Amino acid sequence: MAYVITDDCIACGACAGDCPVEAISEGDGKFVIDADTCIDCGACAGSCPVDAPKPQD
Ligand code: SF4
Ligand code: SF4
Repeated sequence: MAYVITDDCIACGACAGDCPVEAISEGDGKFVIDADTCIDCGACAGSCPVDAPKPQD
């Protein structure tokens, strides 16, 4: 399980600094989560102003 950042992302970068395992990096026009590194903690969702990180089903 991992969180995924949707296209709602405005690339503000707030989530990257709050991820305890540094799983978030800047991608092409938005930030992306490395699924193999993410520990599903949900911190990124709490720091995002547009609610872009979502838990994957
Ligand atoms: Fe990082 Fe936690 Fe978000 Fe996964 S859910 S990307 S571990 S902040
Ligand atoms: Fe994108 Fe939200 Fe992360 Fe900002 S905090 S880079 S809007 S996912």
